[in-house]
Amino acid sequence: MRGGLDIAIAGAGIAGLAAAIMLTRAGHRVMVYERFEQSRPIGSGLMIQPVGLAALERLGLRAEIEARGARISGIEGYTARGTTVFDIGYGELDPSFYAVAVHRAALQGVLWRGFAACGANFVAARPVAAITTSPDGRAQMVFDDGACGPPADLVIDASGARSMLRGAVTVQQPRVFRYGAVWATVPDPGVAPAKLAPRYIGARVMLGVLPLGVVDPGGPNLAALFWSLKGADYTNWRANFASWWNEAATLWPALSPCLEALGGPDDFNMAHYHHITVAQPHKGPVVLIGDSAHSTSPQLGQGANHGLLDAVVLADAIAAAPDVPAALKLYARARRRQVQFYQRASALMTPLFQSDSRVFPALRDLTFHRMKIVPYLKREMVRTLAGLKTGLFTLATPERIARL
Ligand SMILES: Cc1cc2nc3c(=O)[nH]c(=O)nc-3n(C[C@H](O)[C@H](O)[C@H](O)COP(=O)(O)OP(=O)(O)OC[C@H]3O[C@@H](n4cnc5c(N)ncnc54)[C@H](O)[C@@H]3O)c2cc1C
Repeated sequence: MRGGLDIAIAGAGIAGLAAAIMLTRAGHRVMVYERFEQSRPIGSGLMIQPVGLAALERLGLRAEIEARGARISGIEGYTARGTTVFDIGYGELDPSFYAVAVHRAALQGVLWRGFAACGANFVAARPVAAITTSPDGRAQMVFDDGACGPPADLVIDASGARSMLRGAVTVQQPRVFRYGAVWATVPDPGVAPAKLAPRYIGARVMLGVLPLGVVDPGGPNLAALFWSLKGADYTNWRANFASWWNEAATLWPALSPCLEALGGPDDFNMAHYHHITVAQPHKGPVVLIGDSAHSTSPQLGQGANHGLLDAVVLADAIAAAPDVPAALKLYARARRRQVQFYQRASALMTPLFQSDSRVFPALRDLTFHRMKIVPYLKREMVRTLAGLKTGLFTLATPERIARL
């Protein structure tokens, strides 16, 4: 279809803004509704993998992200006893591969500027409560005050892991992982240049650092600091912040200056992780993208990447198909295998890194680093991290994955 569709999008997050940019540029009339006054990031930073960089390239925003983010060459993770859990690098696959870790505000800012320049319409402070059928048989948003938006040929739910609109497409409900994490943004302590660096004690404790680069060019170099925490233990953790501080500084003494600079628990955001993989992410003229369609814990660091990929592939499917139903089928088929692979892999990995189990982390500490001895397994680990897997035994290049 060449332009001309009326498209309504719920959510001005990563997937919603990326979809709006692609679809407006293709000549469609796009309207984005966001619950907040401004599109705003929550939390600290995230990793854009080679596949996500390929999607940003298609959006014309890769260079802007790279000017802000920190290049990440791999993961270096150790147990408190010094056992290596991870020591893998993107360069093992291809010397030109790397990830970019960015502060969420930097990613959101770059997407927002791309969105503002593309000419799509934005309605702020307009929480969408439901999606309904309009009198002319199309779809429309219903807002929290009961008012309806204009009819649209296509409605996209990009409202994230806690979507209230998912019910328009599926009866599936997300489950919440027992473990989430507290995240803070700190001045980059320089303890892990160009690395995602976690430290583990079993699967109960994880303290990690991720360099994030700057929010705006010329700004200070930042890093994300994260600590695995059960949602149920959050209040207790806040109340016993000083003893947490000692535990963290003992686990990673080089982080002490950075920990000392923290004012208290209010410097952290608690993130809860939800898991859902919607089997059929579309129904009628409604489609789910990003975390609304597939959300999980960030063990493999793919969620934002998949949101960007959903957006570019959906735009391709709409361009290629003769009508909306055919486009949505094409989109869902194109994304299904990769999304399912990563959702399953993430669900399998989570107990190895965040659980009360003693067996899973012991297995992890025994096997993960040794897997590197087998070149095929080592490459598979890096391919998985880079976002290149499209199934258990299949993979593709970033450029191929970021295209229909
Ligand atoms: C702690 C943490 C670390 C992570 N690390 C990584 C990582 O390293 N790499 C990676 O790729 N991913 C990571 N992720 C996952 C990533 O953050 C998500 O996959 C990504 O943000 C999903 O984007 P989205 O656009 O689908 O949803 P969101 O970014 O959640 O955006 C949803 C938008 O919709 C708006 N909204 C919600 N409800 C409504 C409504 N009813 N009406 C209107 N607007 C609404 C929200 O305000 C928001 O602006 C991490 C997640 C967490 C929590």
